Amino acid sequence: MKRRKFLRNSSTVAAGIISAPILASCNDQQPEKRTDITPILPIAICTWDFGNATAKAWEVLHDGGSSLDAVHQGVMIEENDLRNTTVGNGGRPDRDGNVTLDACIMDKDGNCGAVLAMQNIANPISVARKVMEETPHVMLAGKGAEQFAYEQGFEKVNLLTKKTKEDWLEWKKTSQYKPIINIENHDTIGMLAIDEKGDIAGACTTSGMAYKMAGRVGDSPIIGAGLFIDNEVGGATATGVGEEVVRTVGSFLIVELMRQGKSPQEACEEGVKRIIAKNKDKQDFQIGFIAINKKGETGGYCIHPGFTYRTYTKDGHVNNPSNSYLES
Ligand code: ASP
Repeated sequence: MKRRKFLRNSSTVAAGIISAPILASCNDQQPEKRTDITPILPIAICTWDFGNATAKAWEVLHDGGSSLDAVHQGVMIEENDLRNTTVGNGGRPDRDGNVTLDACIMDKDGNCGAVLAMQNIANPISVARKVMEETPHVMLAGKGAEQFAYEQGFEKVNLLTKKTKEDWLEWKKTSQYKPIINIENHDTIGMLAIDEKGDIAGACTTSGMAYKMAGRVGDSPIIGAGLFIDNEVGGATATGVGEEVVRTVGSFLIVELMRQGKSPQEACEEGVKRIIAKNKDKQDFQIGFIAINKKGETGGYCIHPGFTYRTYTKDGHVNNPSNSYLES
């Protein structure tokens, strides 16, 4: 990817807050010196154009709330939006017609919680947080997760809407599992935030791949794959075909690359390239990564054009087109 193209698309530029040292590095191909950048705090970013979600997260951060509350409340907006058929209530079902939800959350101290393939509960991110805060475990799956949710006071909800049921019945006529690239221009919501104290948290929630096999779980609720936070370094989260993200433990990889000195943008690009390297003959699937570092710098990268990510800082609320590995 051309460095100039990245700079054009980076959220730092989009928000109009590029610093002189970064501009200077445009002309020489040297790695950016980022030590003199003032942290852009607070900040919330998320996969895709989920502007209502980042707006909610920003509201929490702006009121002095924690990054953990910001990502939790931010992604819940999409879980509750019945028009969104890729996250939470109203998500597309598996091939048997059951909506099974995945979510995880991670805080500044490395605490984390996740629910996998959970049915009948509208807000899996809230259950994931309860797993983190109320149990000695990190992950609860299937019936166990659902039972735990009821014990915590969550209500039983029918997650299949009239529309997603009709679509599923139509799909059954061919029953071909063919993930669509950039479905409806959104998929999983992964969100990362830094609060005024400089603490980082993240959340990721999804209904998974539409018409998946019963019991299938992707990357989204897997700490290290769909989401990873290290408060010393930064955070990363993913969207797209989860099996490929799991194979490279994508979000953990990106955070480790940032620890080694890569910018969030460079780390996301390397994350995608690792996946490409394992799929030399097959590139007909989408992956999108976003990342943030301790300074509030952000990056995003994907395989196919069409992926975007939202950033919300005091300088603006921007939907950033991501650069892609493939041109079209
Ligand atoms: N990553 C999600 C999964 O594999 C799906 C998506 O982002 O579209 O379940």
